[in-house]
Amino acid sequence: MSKKLLLLPGDGIGTEIMAEVEKLIAFLNENRDTGFSYETGLVGGSAYDEHGEAISEQDMAKAQSADAVIFGAVGGPQWDNAPYDKRPEAGLLRLRKDLGLFANLRPAICYEALADASALKREIVEGLDILIVRELTGGVYFGEPKQITELGDNENGKNQKRAVDTQVYETYEIDRIARVAFDMAMTRSKKLHSADKKNVMISGVLWDEVVREVASDYSEVEFNHILADNAAMQLVRNPKQFDVIVTDNLFGDVLSDTAAMLTGSLGMLPSASLGAPDEKSGKRKAMYEPVHGSAPDIAGQGIANPIAMIASFAMALRYSFNMIELADEVEWAIAGVLADGLRSGDIMQDGCKKVSTKQMGDAIIAKLV
Ligand code: NAD
Repeated sequence: MSKKLLLLPGDGIGTEIMAEVEKLIAFLNENRDTGFSYETGLVGGSAYDEHGEAISEQDMAKAQSADAVIFGAVGGPQWDNAPYDKRPEAGLLRLRKDLGLFANLRPAICYEALADASALKREIVEGLDILIVRELTGGVYFGEPKQITELGDNENGKNQKRAVDTQVYETYEIDRIARVAFDMAMTRSKKLHSADKKNVMISGVLWDEVVREVASDYSEVEFNHILADNAAMQLVRNPKQFDVIVTDNLFGDVLSDTAAMLTGSLGMLPSASLGAPDEKSGKRKAMYEPVHGSAPDIAGQGIANPIAMIASFAMALRYSFNMIELADEVEWAIAGVLADGLRSGDIMQDGCKKVSTKQMGDAIIAKLV
């Protein structure tokens, strides 16, 4: 099995946290015979400075041929005035679009040692482990028409406009995201909620119809429907009732950020984005990245939390390379260093030991020995 990675550190703390992943890959190749090979490339502001684009054609070609792309973070104030289509985020959007990454996986795991850092009570979040599967390339963010129309003045002489976004889904888009979510549920506790607004949105009616059809192919999975507004409420009231939640682009955006905050800090949150399986190899295109940005306020100081980045790499082990036990090991190693009281600045608590990016990376690797 080919195990070719493309590492795109990006900007700001992206390069600092990616260095910890490179160390982890070297360790795994040496001690676990994992046989990863990797290339690196530029994305975001660093690519713009070098090539005048947020990602070069050459690096896009590397991304297309990689088995998984590992992405750091992009952006920074020095590129605020770059042309709109060359701004750092354009590199990220191009990768998502050209690789056809329609399924966004956002786990929300509350590590035992950090349960007190959540805004919710310990007993509500302790042991939390849920996965939000968000549709990423369709729905209201992309539907046409999407425009503002001038309506002229009203009777009071006040200028009026009409803004329209279009929520649109076709059967195949719902079917493929639902299948990803049910496949995930099969590898977890076989319980899935589908969140929509079928009570007021016709796109929600189709969403529910298609998800139910897919559900009939997964008789082992307990299927539940939930209205998206209720899902938001239940996530805060009793999040542990959920395991996998599948939802559309807009609701997924909101619900995954809500779920994220149950767990404490931005520096802890990994994500994966998957495309359709290749017809020949069955392998999905995939990109793994922390949820956070390039944190220009702390960049260059060696103090960023590398856990979201390392946990994103663990997702690559799990979902692109089927190395489930190794992924579990890396996640246990993260839980282990937190239980030992090691903390980067963003998750620092009384009585704990503050460590640098590098020390945190080293400690996680040391747990794997
Ligand atoms: P951010 O996520 O970069 O930072 C928000 C806050 O969280 C900052 O105080 C930062 O120091 C802290 N933080 C984030 N990650 C951390 C980590 N790993 N360890 C410790 N602290 C961490 O969001 P922002 O400040 O709104 O944006 C900064 C830049 O990042 C902007 O240019 C923005 O466009 C970009 N951005 C990129 C991505 C991405 O690459 N996927 C996502 C969000 C924002």
